[in-house]
Amino acid sequence: MADAVHALRHDPTMPRPPLSAVEPLLRRTAGARAVVTGGAGFVGSHLGEELVRRGCSVHIVDDLSSGDRANLAALTGSPQVRCTFASVADPMVAHAICADADVVFHLAGTVGVQRLAAAPLEVMQRNLHCSEAMLAAAAAHGVPLLLASSSEVYGDGPVPFREQDPVRPGVTEGPRGGYACAKAMGEWLAFGHAARTGWPVVVARLFNTVGPRQSGRHGMVLPRFVAQALRGEPLTVYGSGEQTRCFAHVREVVRALVDLAAAPGAAGSVFNVGSELETSVAELAAIVRAAAGCEAPIVRLPLASVFPPGFGDPPRRRPCLDRLRRTIGWVPSMPLREIVAELLALGRAGERSVDSLRNVAN
Ligand code: UDP
Repeated sequence: MADAVHALRHDPTMPRPPLSAVEPLLRRTAGARAVVTGGAGFVGSHLGEELVRRGCSVHIVDDLSSGDRANLAALTGSPQVRCTFASVADPMVAHAICADADVVFHLAGTVGVQRLAAAPLEVMQRNLHCSEAMLAAAAAHGVPLLLASSSEVYGDGPVPFREQDPVRPGVTEGPRGGYACAKAMGEWLAFGHAARTGWPVVVARLFNTVGPRQSGRHGMVLPRFVAQALRGEPLTVYGSGEQTRCFAHVREVVRALVDLAAAPGAAGSVFNVGSELETSVAELAAIVRAAAGCEAPIVRLPLASVFPPGFGDPPRRRPCLDRLRRTIGWVPSMPLREIVAELLALGRAGERSVDSLRNVAN
């Protein structure tokens, strides 16, 4: 498949000639060998399925610290898929998986505000170390890489968030910014390697992504509301409920990631990836409650009762998607009501991700 990618293996000590800015990470997806780090996670497992649909062979790499083998049910058994259960924070693992890859989608890391609130040091270190090792290995092997970053880097900046806006991780005395900073540092490291060697990298800043298999155990408002409504329990809105998010369906998000990898002119740039349809959390609770026919009330919990002191909750989060639209020709737009209907139907049918919420504490 050497012709499927423009990057040939090279001696990392030698400067690479600058690449044409219009070259995609992947010239064609069919037959390409793709690595998905964090491939047993919520987004990673959907990405693996999208890559298989497009004819790639897929190497899932995951240390199962937050991923789950059950997320791989649709992938295991496929001759196009293999799995390695190990951490890419280990440079030996990171190098080994690059040896026979045409492209890397680097998603491995830890997400979830409740994880961050409970164990900020571990979350910051895991995200930083995974990216540091994986970026160094992929750059050394010259394997093109798409880095999954986060809308958290924009903090509580003015909306819509544009890729060229400065990052705003916040104060170091508050833990939330540490996650944002680790993600932003990953982006800087990626561009640092690219500047040194001409290595092709694309950064995708993911906004709130929802869909089947997402767990509400560590935050993640929509699966929590769906599980609460299905159990006939009160829906817990944190703070005023006026804070907004834009929710994109994971199947659309992973399509956008693969389209970005295949897009001419994407290398060397950051892209917001998500939906631009803004919804307040209170509105989201009302939509889920009504769609579920739930009679339990919507309750408001003060932020101070759910988050540690100094843990901010961005008041608005909306991306500008001009760059994404220009580059791949479309943006995620599945209406929230359709997404909610799908999750409720799956929940009623006993879908595992909702089952796994039976013991979610509010
Ligand atoms: N949230 C809520 N109730 C919950 C869980 C979350 O009101 O049970 C709020 C949370 O405070 C935030 C929004 O929903 O304002 C989205 O939270 P999530 O953890 O899904 O993602 P975030 O955008 O904060 O990373």
